[in-house]
Amino acid sequence: MFDAHNHLNDPRLLPEVEALLARMEEAGVRGALVVGTDVPTSHTAVALARRYPGVLAAAVGMHPHESSGLDDDALAALAALAREPEVVALGEIGLDYHYDHSPRPVQREAFRRQLGVAAACGLPIVLHEREAVEDMTAILDAEGGWVLGGVWHCCSTSPETALAIAERLYVGIAGWITFPKGENIRALARAVPLGRLLLETDAPYITPVPHRGHPNEPAYVRLTAEALAAVKETTLDEVAARTTANTLAAFPRWAARLSHDEGAFDG
Ligand SMILES: [Zn+2]
Repeated sequence: MFDAHNHLNDPRLLPEVEALLARMEEAGVRGALVVGTDVPTSHTAVALARRYPGVLAAAVGMHPHESSGLDDDALAALAALAREPEVVALGEIGLDYHYDHSPRPVQREAFRRQLGVAAACGLPIVLHEREAVEDMTAILDAEGGWVLGGVWHCCSTSPETALAIAERLYVGIAGWITFPKGENIRALARAVPLGRLLLETDAPYITPVPHRGHPNEPAYVRLTAEALAAVKETTLDEVAARTTANTLAAFPRWAARLSHDEGAFDG
């Protein structure tokens, strides 16, 4: 089982990383992707992946909230980081029209420019989208973004849209699936084949039931896996094995590093 998206680089989690990784291992979670949201957190994601090479990998990118900060220097810094061996994806990048922390045209330009970095580095993408499906899809169409591969992280679209996304990218399922009010996420998870789903925590955010009120952590991805198994009317083992295979297929450089380090592995 993998946590395909978290922010162990967040100041709320970073001081506790040793303990969090120990709990992750106890919960049967064998790896976690640490995702950057700006240049400093991308640097930290790479440093963590370097410190724990068999367990952690990094994604680097400027979150849509931070798009206003993507000047030429920041883009060059991300492009340099993207070439580090610990980096397996470009992200998280995309559009957020719910919070609008950066103006929408600035978000779109930052998204386009970072898709260019991903293409130049041959990296898959980790997409963040809130209330922006149409513009996101249009930019991915125009820029050839779909062929990069990767994941539509914490997907919260309609089941129909998720199914269309799943034809070209993996669909990330987060702790929302455990919420009493998470019926839309359960419907989405029911619609998309298990072979196209990834498990994510987005820690420290989106803490699953029954740990609401506390920061999320990678070990809790197991709760999301259990909820997904219930939705799919299958076993936890099946969900763990399938989503593990999906994670490694979504991020080929991570798979290559793990198989190089350790030989064969299972879920
Ligand atoms: Zn995130």
